[in-house]
Amino acid sequence: MTDRLKGKVAIVTGGTLGIGLSIVDLYLKEGAKVVFTGRREKVGQEALKTLGNPANAKFVVHDASDEEGWKKLFADTIAEFGEVDILVNNAGIGVPGNVESTDYAQWRQTMAVNLDGVYFGTHYGVINMKNPKSGDASIINLSSIEGLIGDPDLFAYNATKGALRIMSKSAALYCAQHDYNLRVNTIHPGYIKTPLVEEMPGFEESMSQRTKTPMGHIGEPNDIGWLAVYLGSKEAKFATGSEFTVDGGYTAQ
Ligand code: NAP
Repeated sequence: MTDRLKGKVAIVTGGTLGIGLSIVDLYLKEGAKVVFTGRREKVGQEALKTLGNPANAKFVVHDASDEEGWKKLFADTIAEFGEVDILVNNAGIGVPGNVESTDYAQWRQTMAVNLDGVYFGTHYGVINMKNPKSGDASIINLSSIEGLIGDPDLFAYNATKGALRIMSKSAALYCAQHDYNLRVNTIHPGYIKTPLVEEMPGFEESMSQRTKTPMGHIGEPNDIGWLAVYLGSKEAKFATGSEFTVDGGYTAQ
């Protein structure tokens, strides 16, 4: 590894599994100190055991839709490791349903985690991370290809991922206008082999068809993790308000 994030302090939400865990792992390997969250203590402690440099990592139980928890998360991270340079708003849920079947409870549940959670993160992120001593801070919001294209069976999920895409651009423009040295970007993964996808029977096979993913297979968490390393590092110092798609060609057709 090449210390691409040496001296950086990062918060990664939903960092106990899948894409989030890959980001935490790569951030630690690249020299960052990382606080990562999830709702389940046991899953978080299991994740900690898999990490190479646990002294530089801390797991915190936090639901991304809990506003008070966000204030504490920033305060505790700053007290433990110092100023926060990178925030990855990764926590998200997929609640399948179409425009007719999606009831209001499912709609609200999806909004609470995928949109309110990213709003809280971006809002408190800008308040806590602007004008960083390191000279470059980065907020990375996990959208999806489902924030770029519609899916008849992901009505509420589409709504949240599309909204956070454009919300992130607004935050990026505001930070640029104010010379905050704080960049805001979105990542749009195609289908990635994580528990979220594995829990849907037949999904990997279906999404691996070349009519869906032209490369003929779904991605691995590190396919997204390495992009998050780039966006968190100074290598990306001119990237803000942008959307980064990694999808095996899904949205190219
Ligand atoms: P995953 O395997 O289901 O893992 C989700 C992680 O988020 C877990 O650590 C989970 O831990 C945590 N989490 C869930 N709800 C949370 C909440 N309310 N507050 C805090 N943490 C929460 O998901 P993934 O596939 O890695 O997806 C990560 C992100 O990428 C999501 O935003 C997802 O929408 C997006 N994405 C994924 C794919 C894909 O194909 N996998 C494609 C496009 C976009 P707990 O359950 O213990 O809280």
